[in-house]
Amino acid sequence: MARADRLGNSLERLADSRTNPLSIVVDDVVDTVTAVVAGRRTLMFGTNSYLGLNFNPACIEASVEAARHYGTGSTASRVAAGNHRLHVMLEEDIATLYGRRDAVIFSTGFMANLGVISALARKGDMIFVDAHCHASIFDACRLSGAQVESFAHNDRSDLDSRFARSNVPGPQTLVICEGLYSVRGDLGELEGLTTVARRHGAVVIVDEAHSLGIYGRYGRGIAEHLGVEANVDVIVGTFSKSLGGIGGYAVSDSSALRALRFMSRPYLYTASLPPPIVAAARRALHLIGAEPKLRDDLWRNARAMHDGLARIGVRPCADPGPVGSIRMPGLAAGYEFWKALLDRGIYVNLLVPPATPDGDVVLRFSVSAAHAPDQIRAAVNAVAEVSKLVKLA
Ligand code: PMP
Repeated sequence: MARADRLGNSLERLADSRTNPLSIVVDDVVDTVTAVVAGRRTLMFGTNSYLGLNFNPACIEASVEAARHYGTGSTASRVAAGNHRLHVMLEEDIATLYGRRDAVIFSTGFMANLGVISALARKGDMIFVDAHCHASIFDACRLSGAQVESFAHNDRSDLDSRFARSNVPGPQTLVICEGLYSVRGDLGELEGLTTVARRHGAVVIVDEAHSLGIYGRYGRGIAEHLGVEANVDVIVGTFSKSLGGIGGYAVSDSSALRALRFMSRPYLYTASLPPPIVAAARRALHLIGAEPKLRDDLWRNARAMHDGLARIGVRPCADPGPVGSIRMPGLAAGYEFWKALLDRGIYVNLLVPPATPDGDVVLRFSVSAAHAPDQIRAAVNAVAEVSKLVKLA
């Protein structure tokens, strides 16, 4: 309670209630990249709609059609009356995309991590998790009851030395990392990490939440992009970012995945995804294969944003990609920068600890295939203007 108060207060001291970055109200949505925020029309660089599919006409149509036919919700769990043919077809689509035997869908990406990790590990097992992993992964590790150690971000030798010191056998050990890290926008060093994990016979889980549809020949994510899918046992992902909906998935060749349907509490004890959401996700999944232009547009924008920032002397934390981040010198300067961008009609995310690693305060901007080139330029110009007022380092 006291901790929650402290966190709330530190931002509330800086911000009035309308412009507190943690409680911004989007008054209206105009399109994928435009909204009304704090009373003004604002360009959005802080959603995860990397491919703009939340406003894709075919996805909307599929969703509306499913709502008319199946209703707005399934109102039951997958193990009761909530296991519609549509859910099964979406799982088949995901398994086909990845060329794996089985896929299981969950009601959110957060629950996919909870469900998979807590079912695959238990007391007596060991989990090595990358220190920069998402909160849902850390919560899942805790829920499993296994021993948990986080290794230094992307550090294969730290991972290796933890295996050397561990007295839990390799096959009873999970190694968990992400494809694209969402705070700094950097890639997981999957080649080294999965090689180490394989050498010790461990089970490897990679969360591709931010890379689905964007990296790899078939859009399967960073493991595909880096050619290391054979080293990965389970891939976890979400429909809430590039696919523009909500829901999570796990996909694998392992028969352990089938057991999730009987053991995984976040799968068993919650309502299944609403049919309109499932129908839209199926259509979106189809589009990432059928419409390469979406990806081309995203990459054009990602590079333009990165190059534009470099030209004005601002260096993002990582190479061009759907997520770009600029490190701020502290909370007060970060808030000032964020607010000055908002005043200029540009919304980005202000990320603060504990959502960030190493106590960082970060301005995170995400780009979408739906941004027009002049909107990218507008964002870069606004950053150029504000960086004259608020010093970055
Ligand atoms: N995994 C990662 C790496 C994430 O970044 C997120 C969300 N930011 C999630 C899982 C949770 O996904 P969802 O929003 O679909 O619950």
